[in-house]
Amino acid sequence: MKIVVLKFGGTSVGTIEKIKTVAEIINEYKRKKFKVIVVSSAMSGVTNELIKKSKGISDNFSDVEYDVLVSSGEQIACSLIAGRLNHIGHKSRSWLAWQIPIFTKGVHKNSRIYTINKKKILKYLEDGGTPIVTGFQGINEHERVSTIGRGGSDATAIVLAKFFKAQRCIIYTDVEGVYTTDPNKTNKARKIKEISYEEMLEMASLGAKVMQPVSIQDARLNRINIEVKSSFVKKPGTLITKRSNIINNKIITGISSTQNDSKVSLIGVKDKPGVAASIFKPLSKNSINVDMVVQNISANGKETDLTFTIKTDDLKKTKKIIESNKNIRFKKLLLKKDVAKISIIGVGMITTPGVTFRMFQTLANKKINIQVISTSEIKISVLIDKRSVKKALIALHKEFKLDN
Ligand code: ADP
Ligand code: ASP
Ligand code: MG
Repeated sequence: MKIVVLKFGGTSVGTIEKIKTVAEIINEYKRKKFKVIVVSSAMSGVTNELIKKSKGISDNFSDVEYDVLVSSGEQIACSLIAGRLNHIGHKSRSWLAWQIPIFTKGVHKNSRIYTINKKKILKYLEDGGTPIVTGFQGINEHERVSTIGRGGSDATAIVLAKFFKAQRCIIYTDVEGVYTTDPNKTNKARKIKEISYEEMLEMASLGAKVMQPVSIQDARLNRINIEVKSSFVKKPGTLITKRSNIINNKIITGISSTQNDSKVSLIGVKDKPGVAASIFKPLSKNSINVDMVVQNISANGKETDLTFTIKTDDLKKTKKIIESNKNIRFKKLLLKKDVAKISIIGVGMITTPGVTFRMFQTLANKKINIQVISTSEIKISVLIDKRSVKKALIALHKEFKLDN
């Protein structure tokens, strides 16, 4: 069977008109004799609205009910797509994750798909049907509905492509592909023809919302090529593939930024073994993700300052946990909301010296102060004042010759 998996994001199914366009795109693949498996996200804005509703009910809304609630948007979009395909003469039906089933493991709100029962979908494809599968959701070992993290429909599509050995996996979205930086932030952003899994994973993890990071990990492990393209214009998109398939002479492939970070500093912490662990253990127990960490060299050998970043959503909880932590002593707790992380990413930096210097010099020339730094083999991230993000982005984009 010649199978293709097509995933449509929220904006692609955001209105009735757009859903009609989606049905036309599916129709084209049917005409080319593909067996099509469709994955859809919720209509744009719906998931956010549902989350808002849960917060209105309680600031302690249960994670189990959260998953039941926020996964419901996908049901609506899938039934509308199936309905439209029926209207234009195709055999099609919606499939909620539990009906297939798509099994997940792990905690609510952030589960992982680990297996899919293929039988019913295969039979349906053989019978000429087009299944429209709800992205983002699954069912766990307790037969409860689960979700796999924001933007998770990307991962649903890639796992389906893996299990059904699809020839192609195409992510349809509201931009023409993966760009050197968010095209909605600067018109200098350039569409990337091909990008490696490693670079895409860094870009996504560091803020490029166009693909969900987990989905890229799954694609990389299973060597699944992903095409990202627009559902609005017929133009070639971006291919996400293995590094050896790519000829790229750029040092930096892309720049990502995040906006909702906060900085936490503990001033005058007792400098003794185990202190960092005592600070971070309760945070990790409460599923608070600590990102960048710096610890100053202790000036007097007794006390030190420790700084780290977290998501602003976790700030209140973090403050509470630190203040009630009896295992640590410090003089002052400083919390800062208006920070942002900007990162340059590229496999080219492995072999090119001087990239760090060029990044820091570019920011210095723009009088942008660097608060925290973190690096890996293929990325450099810095924490800066939130108000300087756009200026930094434009300057770095130019410095590394990414402008179109
Ligand atoms: P969908 O609803 O289709 O899943 P998303 O909103 O999740 O779409 O992702 C698409 C958005 O990602 C774009 O509208 C764009 O603003 C944003 N984006 C951020 N960084 C990038 C990038 N490097 N390339 C393309 N889009 C990006
Ligand atoms: N609807 C979900 C979300 O908004 C999943 C997705 O868009 O992929 O996060
Ligand atoms: Mg998305």
